[in-house]
Amino acid sequence: MNADVVIIGCGPAGLQAGIHSSRKKAGTVILGKIRDSALYGAHVENYFGIPEKTNGPELLKNGLDMALSFGCRHMDKDVTAASKDGDGFRITIESGEEIICKAVVIATGISRMRLDIPGEKEFLGRGVSYCAECDCNFYKGLGVAVIGGGSKAAVAAELMTRYASAVYWVSDGISADGTLADKAAEAGAEIVAGKPKEIRGGGNVASLLLEGGREIDLDGVFIELGGRSSSDLAMDLDVMPETDDSIKVNERCETSAAGVFACGDVTGEPWQLAKAVGQGAVAGLNAAGRAKGMK
Ligand SMILES: Cc1cc2nc3c(=O)[nH]c(=O)nc-3n(C[C@H](O)[C@H](O)[C@H](O)COP(=O)(O)OP(=O)(O)OC[C@H]3O[C@@H](n4cnc5c(N)ncnc54)[C@H](O)[C@@H]3O)c2cc1C
Repeated sequence: MNADVVIIGCGPAGLQAGIHSSRKKAGTVILGKIRDSALYGAHVENYFGIPEKTNGPELLKNGLDMALSFGCRHMDKDVTAASKDGDGFRITIESGEEIICKAVVIATGISRMRLDIPGEKEFLGRGVSYCAECDCNFYKGLGVAVIGGGSKAAVAAELMTRYASAVYWVSDGISADGTLADKAAEAGAEIVAGKPKEIRGGGNVASLLLEGGREIDLDGVFIELGGRSSSDLAMDLDVMPETDDSIKVNERCETSAAGVFACGDVTGEPWQLAKAVGQGAVAGLNAAGRAKGMK
């Protein structure tokens, strides 16, 4: 199969790239699975123009329907390999099929690091969150734990003191920048030395059990262990990820390799919907422009 633009990733960044690329009349294929987007498990209340708390799956489905209505093609398949092919690219998907294209947009998001303990998966969206910045407002006046020893956890713990009635910063070793750690502690986060063993509850999270037996009653658990980008495919396309695994882009969302664009969480923090969508628009427009021989 041939296409002008192939977009790897079916989250908000990839879908917005698809909308803008196909509206420029570039033949556009979006690859990837909606249910694997970070947004799929999210409730959003900080996105421009949507005042009510909106669920991620609904936003994603509407975004995909829009992309399709403008002529995008979507294949619910993961990409297994990518390489240069003359002036263009050869993209291989899990079925073995290949797509030859003129421009590629990498919109593969990040993989958030998990605790891998009982209750983590079961209570996702019902008290378990990986993003204090996103979900802080849902825990006004409630008790929460922030898990992780790094700077990201310190920032989350400090932030949550402005919303929650009690913040337990749980870590088996704090490695956060000293100033950030001090700020969290001064703001009132209680440092708890320990390792989480299980997240417990009924309909929603009710407590966190630590190794050693201590059980803390609370309403929310923020897992703030950081994330890795899903940038493996970038190297196949001659783009070297940064040391934190993100992909560096310029203001046109161009990477260091001609014809390869990137957008969304994969380009680094902030990991937020608004940024993913904004970069998606830029990447889609410029990828289509290149593919159609326009500037
Ligand atoms: C629990 C939670 C709550 C959140 N709440 C908010 C919020 O309230 N407000 C906010 O602004 N942000 C929130 N976020 C962050 C927001 O969801 C992300 O910033 C946004 O989804 C990033 O979009 P993206 O398209 O870059 O990546 P993603 O949405 O993660 O999409 C990446 C896509 O790439 C695909 N992919 C990866 N590898 C491949 C491959 N090899 N082949 C094909 N496809 C591939 C995946 O399947 C997925 O479809 C939240 C995130 C989480 C986890």
